[in-house]
Amino acid sequence: MKPFALKPDEETAPAHRAGVLLPLPLSGAYDYATEEKLPRGTIVAAPLGPREYLACVWHDGDGKVPAEKLKPVELLDGNPRLPEPLCDFIDWVARYTLSPPGQVLALALRVPAAFEEEVPRIAFVRGRETPKKMTDARARVLALCEDGLARRVSDYAAEANVTPAVVRGLIECGALVETELPEFARFRVPDPDFAQPVLNAEQQKAANAMVQDVRIGAFAAHLLDGVTGSGKTETYFEAIAEALKRGKQALILLPEIALTVQFLDRFAERFGCRPAEWHSDLSQKERKRTYRAVMNGEARVVVGARSALFLPFKELGLIIADEEHEQAYKQEEGVIYHARDMAVVRARLENCPVVLSSATPSIESYVNAESGRYRWLRLRERHGVAEMPQIKVIDLRNEKVEAGTWLSQPLREALAIALGSGEQAMLFLNRRGYAPLTLCQSCGHKMVCRNCSTWLVEHRYHKRLTCHHCGFDMPTPNNCPECQAENSLIACGPGVERVAEEFAQVFPQARMAIASSDTWHGPLETQSAIRAMAKREIDVVIGTQIMAKGHHFPQLTLVGVIDADLGGADGDMRARERTFQLLHQVSGRAGRAEKPGFVLLQTRNPNDAVMKALASGDRDAFYEQERGFRERAATPPFGRLAAVILSGEEGEKVREVGRQLAKAAPSARGVKVWGPTPAFYHLLRGQTRERLLVQADKTVDVQAYLRAWLALVKAPNAVRVTVDIDPVSFF
Ligand code: ADP
Ligand code: ZN
Repeated sequence: MKPFALKPDEETAPAHRAGVLLPLPLSGAYDYATEEKLPRGTIVAAPLGPREYLACVWHDGDGKVPAEKLKPVELLDGNPRLPEPLCDFIDWVARYTLSPPGQVLALALRVPAAFEEEVPRIAFVRGRETPKKMTDARARVLALCEDGLARRVSDYAAEANVTPAVVRGLIECGALVETELPEFARFRVPDPDFAQPVLNAEQQKAANAMVQDVRIGAFAAHLLDGVTGSGKTETYFEAIAEALKRGKQALILLPEIALTVQFLDRFAERFGCRPAEWHSDLSQKERKRTYRAVMNGEARVVVGARSALFLPFKELGLIIADEEHEQAYKQEEGVIYHARDMAVVRARLENCPVVLSSATPSIESYVNAESGRYRWLRLRERHGVAEMPQIKVIDLRNEKVEAGTWLSQPLREALAIALGSGEQAMLFLNRRGYAPLTLCQSCGHKMVCRNCSTWLVEHRYHKRLTCHHCGFDMPTPNNCPECQAENSLIACGPGVERVAEEFAQVFPQARMAIASSDTWHGPLETQSAIRAMAKREIDVVIGTQIMAKGHHFPQLTLVGVIDADLGGADGDMRARERTFQLLHQVSGRAGRAEKPGFVLLQTRNPNDAVMKALASGDRDAFYEQERGFRERAATPPFGRLAAVILSGEEGEKVREVGRQLAKAAPSARGVKVWGPTPAFYHLLRGQTRERLLVQADKTVDVQAYLRAWLALVKAPNAVRVTVDIDPVSFF
């Protein structure tokens, strides 16, 4: 960073001023002095108090601070600049979510190192000298040089199988000489024609519609609505190919990192190389490399989690949100936003098309497609010979299932048949650990988290009880902590580990793995289970929702859902939709290749609308029913919702702010305010939580209402007020 010439003792007032946005939760941009007029988006170093921040020129300044009091900013080498549409996007997200713009800017400036100079890597090539003493080891190193590539000492050592000392000896005598390599290897350019598939008629029609819009290069939203296995990915890859041909960048959003592994390989099969990745598992160095490459246009396609929406694309030409219905797209902390909705906004500001893809769209997207706001591209059939799986409901009320076991007789029989014919199976249960509840048999005491109003989940193999909300964990005690009865604690209900235990007893020969996302079975274990499934190294995978989505296992023919009723109990307006989506996705794992798939749903509510829709395969009937419920209740997308969440360590203060807010709520046409009520988890990580809910007509400016309302009550510092626009979780 190079300061421009503006000495503190200079008498003249600065030539220009600029409103500079700092990546902090301040009310807006602050004025600074600049030597020249800087365009919006210019990245600068701005002092604030004792510190200096990477900040961004936002506007011309509001002129409130007299010129002589302005502090100067420092320009950066190379004059980096956030693209204008990204600046507009940041403003838009801030207004929509009621977040300070600087807090949103921070999401786009996550990698300060990206603005530092490159650090070239030192490497070596063949020099003029020939060593006086030649050894086998030296000869091997020099033989490597013949390809002319520059290598680092460690590369030579590894490739020639010699010690680094051998390489250094060659450097000393001038047989190898120093040269510089760029800090990072370049990203490879995906080839749109690398392996183009022959699309079937439905796919071709959908692909044409998307390709056409990429070609036009204007905003358009598509809902790519195709049954599982219909080739949605294959189809939207054509739109990406078109973006590549037009010299545009493309962004593919995935709801979870766990999905990226298979996806990257699949992309490489189609385009000849992997795309750039963007998610929280990247190293700091990888981030620097990718951020710069996105900004200078070298990275043509980025696959990422929701935070990739805030990358500084140079020339974005297409956004895809895969599995658009996924709740994981909702960022629930800091700036609270829905990445799918914001993807549509970013596309509008970038003037490019956006594709939302799903086999079970959100009701919101379904309604948008029905009304014609989104173009509705439907793929009704699985690609090739694959058929939709047959789904059968097992009524647990009629089955004799021994206490403490969860695999009914029909499910055991189906498993025996599948395994007997060398096929794979998946058992699905959306509960981690061994048991969701540990209870004292003599006094009824429940083992709960000390920080949260939740049960502790037993992880038997590790002999621990864990809270999945705050991470609190303790050894499983021998005696009840309440009544001290010995060995009286018992596990209630199943988690995946417990189902695995039962499965292993019934099928001792079968090779099996657990895939679940928690502290004990981390992402690595999940990924290795996914790989083992794909390579047929295991016969059965027992998994939580992490296994439900996106994966393609050709030999998987049987899916058993241990408890189809889980998830329906939340009671919020999206519970039915979520259960349907999840079970539909899980079912969609079965029979994706030649062999037909079979799904067994164990339930105690076989007459429930969700079970009936699944068993009959009549998805649209279910969607129409849901749409009707929402329309009558005026809930999204027919009305608007916003939640106000109050939290703090002192329960009474939190409740008091809740009461004050309820009292202060302005009455306005088409607006109802509910609450305060204790949140579902009224104690979370030691914080008491209360909620208020605003329900408004579609025409109401909810943000304006909230701004006016929240300004009326001054909450003490001990109480945090969080606004969640379009909440999807009611916890
Ligand atoms: P979806 O995303 O809709 O569930 P996928 O895109 O994963 O479906 O496609 C399912 C399988 O069918 C994949 O193995 C995919 O490669 C294959 N497939 C789909 N369409 C084609 C096609 N036109 N040509 C060859 N293979 C295809
Ligand atoms: Zn907890």
